[in-house]
Amino acid sequence: MDERPDEFALIRQYFSALTPAPDDVPLGIGDDAALLRPSPGVELAVSTDTLIAGRHFPERTAPADIGWKALAVNLSDLAAMGAEPWVFTLALSLPEADPQWLRGFADGLGALARESGIALVGGDTTRGPLAITITVIGRVPVGRALRRSGAKVGNRVCVTGTLGDAALGLRRLDDPAAAMLMPRLNRPTPRWAAGIALRGLAHAAIDLSDGLAGDLRHVLDASGVGAEIGAHRLPGSPAFDALVLPHERLALQAGGGDDYELCFCIPPARVDEARALCAPLSLTVIGSIVREPGLRFVDTNGTIMPFNFQAYNHFP
Ligand code: ADP
Ligand code: MG
Repeated sequence: MDERPDEFALIRQYFSALTPAPDDVPLGIGDDAALLRPSPGVELAVSTDTLIAGRHFPERTAPADIGWKALAVNLSDLAAMGAEPWVFTLALSLPEADPQWLRGFADGLGALARESGIALVGGDTTRGPLAITITVIGRVPVGRALRRSGAKVGNRVCVTGTLGDAALGLRRLDDPAAAMLMPRLNRPTPRWAAGIALRGLAHAAIDLSDGLAGDLRHVLDASGVGAEIGAHRLPGSPAFDALVLPHERLALQAGGGDDYELCFCIPPARVDEARALCAPLSLTVIGSIVREPGLRFVDTNGTIMPFNFQAYNHFP
């Protein structure tokens, strides 16, 4: 007897009851479309990200980690807008309906969905190469979303958490000593609470998915300013600091991807307030916004460091 569920049994079994039904979602999974009822005074932030096996995660990644990460990268975009997680859809392309894979995937996805308070309200399930597309919708009070375009000369540039763990983990996939970096690669922790706390404080924000240098450049371009960043100020975790080789440090922290931390620009006088609101998550001032366009990394003496970054680009 074939124990593989058909498409509709699969949706019922793994996804229909994944998350509690919120009051402002009159109709979730099961009809031709979900119905959402946003409150007055709220703007909706909408974002989509696709994860492809072998490109966005190593082929051997555990299904629970794939489920977690597919949602995490999307929640990170909501965090960068200062939006509160609300609902999401899941478009799943699967080579086969393997119950063990689906159980793991739904467990990882559900764990982060419940932790972040986001509800699964629909999706699509097809057969094909393994690919996961999630669309998230977040809520933000009208006019309060964080954008890339508001950075001002004199702002401090800050990052949450630490940089480089995931990129170093990817480089050391087969090194048992690097095992403690793997959760940072496979289970990134999107910073939605920090994003919400930074509304009204940060002048500009972005999440770090493709590496600090490439992502911060988007903020600088959108804001028409430059930045000077202290390479020695980039925060590393204890595991990263213990394992990284000196010559790969800046390349991994500024050119590596998959950090899913927030990078934001804020007036110097507001840094302490932001720090208190984000605690226990650490905030680090890494540099300043300057008038002269471009991004420069400097060492402890203020000397410009050569840095040839290659931001990840799908269509180089
Ligand atoms: P339709 O044929 O009308 O497009 P489907 O048969 O694709 O509808 O889906 C039936 C219901 O199940 C819809 O409400 C859809 O949103 C939901 N659904 C399908 N796949 C998923 C999934 N992977 N996760 C969550 N909901 C899903
Ligand atoms: Mg459909």
